[in-house]
Amino acid sequence: MKRVYLDNSATTQTHEEVAKIMVEYMTEKYGNPSSIHSFGREAHKAIEEARAQVATLLGANPNEIFFTSGGTEADNLAIKGVALANRKKGNHIITTAIEHHAVLHSCEFLEKEGFVVTYLPVDENAMVSLEDVRKAITDQTILISVMYANNEVGTMQPIREIGQLAKEKGIYFHTDAVQAVGSYPVNVNDDHIDLLSLSGHKFNGPKGIGALYVRRGVRIGSIQKGGSQERGMRAGTENVPGIIGLGKASELAGAEMDEKIKKLTGLREKLIEGIIAKIPDVKLNGHRTARLPGNVNFSFLYVEGESLLLNLDLKGVAASSGSACTSGSLDPSHVLLAMGLTHEVAHGSLRLSLGRNNTEADADYCLEVLPGILERLRSMSPLYASYAASASNPCSQCQRHG
Ligand code: PLP
Repeated sequence: MKRVYLDNSATTQTHEEVAKIMVEYMTEKYGNPSSIHSFGREAHKAIEEARAQVATLLGANPNEIFFTSGGTEADNLAIKGVALANRKKGNHIITTAIEHHAVLHSCEFLEKEGFVVTYLPVDENAMVSLEDVRKAITDQTILISVMYANNEVGTMQPIREIGQLAKEKGIYFHTDAVQAVGSYPVNVNDDHIDLLSLSGHKFNGPKGIGALYVRRGVRIGSIQKGGSQERGMRAGTENVPGIIGLGKASELAGAEMDEKIKKLTGLREKLIEGIIAKIPDVKLNGHRTARLPGNVNFSFLYVEGESLLLNLDLKGVAASSGSACTSGSLDPSHVLLAMGLTHEVAHGSLRLSLGRNNTEADADYCLEVLPGILERLRSMSPLYASYAASASNPCSQCQRHG
């Protein structure tokens, strides 16, 4: 059966060059970077080279990069690390309602520790307002954390403007750029970013490795205690193959960036326009233009996202839905609800996320199988039947076509 992978926001295929170099650091160059013998020195040198590769991708300095076990740990370290080290300065944090749970749950943890957190709302396109950020700032604010791009609906936030505002007010600015780094040219200086989280497996690197960028001079404490690895910021023997793989993925992502953006944007538009043209009663979720090159997210009225996913899987297409399957519940995603979608419309959402290996043929295949699946699922829905019968009563959240 034909298999088409359209779930690149969940994870990506490891680049073959990344996998190759990682094997070398498992089978031949396996020293512990803390050892002083030649094996250790070899691993240590390679880690520093990888640090420089990651720094180059972000326009940062190598000594501002700290390796972590992924995006989740980088978010935890940024938020808890800054909060705990700046407690005397203030106890207020600003973030948004649509962050990844790595950020939201870190903030909730801090609330229990006496911090006050403002969760900014978003508009119907999942966009945060700069004015709302400005209004939320108090003399107690020590950190603003706004994601670069949303993992579900792809909306890209006004990061540069928020960064500029934070800088003017002397407040640290963190961005969870897990979905953007490697798919979009992120520069920490242009965007006035003080702390940035990234994750290797989102841009053809390995899983279980990421990094936190920390601008020189930012006051931050460690949360994981132990040895003095990563200059005391992150104790524990380094994941050497992972770090080398992340470095290689960063180098490749930088080199392929322009081409990747062009290709993914083209495929994204083909899917968006194709779905709108071929399928009635759909709603595009996320900003129409300020969105990740590879993100497509639709709500299909009167259809359960989970059924859609399963039926697509039977046709070999891998996608993702807006139900919180990560938490094992069927609650609709907090992102879609924050955008103002009703539970019903949010339940019918589907994310198709493109990556460097996708082709025109993949998009064509998806557009070929999707309308039939929708038609079949809707033909079994009594709600859709009564809705279709009353064309005079269209859903206010959907575009009705055909
Ligand atoms: N932040 C965002 C926006 C993400 O999309 C993800 C993963 O889906 C994470 C953080 C967590 O990254 P990791 O899987 O590396 O822990």
